[in-house]
Amino acid sequence: MTDWSSVRVLVTGGSRGIGLGLAEGFLQVGAAVAISGRSPDALGHAAQRLGEHGDRLHCIVADVADPRACAVMAAEAQQRLGGLDVLCANAGIYPECALDELGVEDVTAIMTTNVAGTIFAVQACRAALKASGRGRVVVTSSITGPVTGYPGLSHYGASKAAQLGFVRSAALELAADDITINAVLPGSIATEGLDGLGADAIARMLACIPQRRLGTPADIAAAARFFASEEASFVTGQTLVVDGGQTLPELPESG
Ligand code: NAP
Repeated sequence: MTDWSSVRVLVTGGSRGIGLGLAEGFLQVGAAVAISGRSPDALGHAAQRLGEHGDRLHCIVADVADPRACAVMAAEAQQRLGGLDVLCANAGIYPECALDELGVEDVTAIMTTNVAGTIFAVQACRAALKASGRGRVVVTSSITGPVTGYPGLSHYGASKAAQLGFVRSAALELAADDITINAVLPGSIATEGLDGLGADAIARMLACIPQRRLGTPADIAAAARFFASEEASFVTGQTLVVDGGQTLPELPESG
């Protein structure tokens, strides 16, 4: 069984949404957690929300798109937590843009944050994870790209599929350091980002989910905890879809 009280976790993009849920999910079982993001204010709000676990929570300002910032983030996390066992490479963006409208800046931004940001965070944390002796990386990918498509998110889908290509090859290199790397593929998760969508859009989303509910950040945290656990020590380079059955139906009416 995993003794979570000795586990030290860094969650990139931990200031809101799924990342905040990941942080809470690890804090609830007794782990020590550092959350990172670009906005100090957002990190401050997150720290308030997670206040009851304050003695085990640390906030680090860092942009994952910058490899030097990732190196500083990794060093700071290691120093504040006294080491590092788990990296949740979660930071990501998903601005919608039709294929015809996509410019160099749109594509560069999404690839730099979602793909390069994942790679830089793993690179920066590798030595600390190796020193842990039970290092784990859990990447937040998506069903969009690896499994499904969504109009307006072609660049995003490409970035989320690219993360899985990275996971599979990195798994081979990281195995030498007893570090596993796996990916969670969330479906539609209720985060602040969905707040502005309106009731009609939410109803259409629910109609596509056999379990007839949106996922929660806690659902993703449970999957991440599995990959981070002792019990998953022989699991690497793998993916876990967490979507309430959204990707299953062969026919629309069977969903
Ligand atoms: P969110 O609510 O917008 O939160 C994104 C987090 O990432 C924030 O903490 C944000 O903080 C941080 N972030 C963004 N760019 C960053 C950068 N360059 N460097 C460091 N931190 C950065 O998004 P979310 O919905 O929770 O999504 C989180 C992850 O889940 C993403 O990888 C997304 O692709 C994936 N996902 C989400 C869903 C969903 O339904 N919500 C479904 C599938 C997959 P700052 O802006 O302050 O930096």
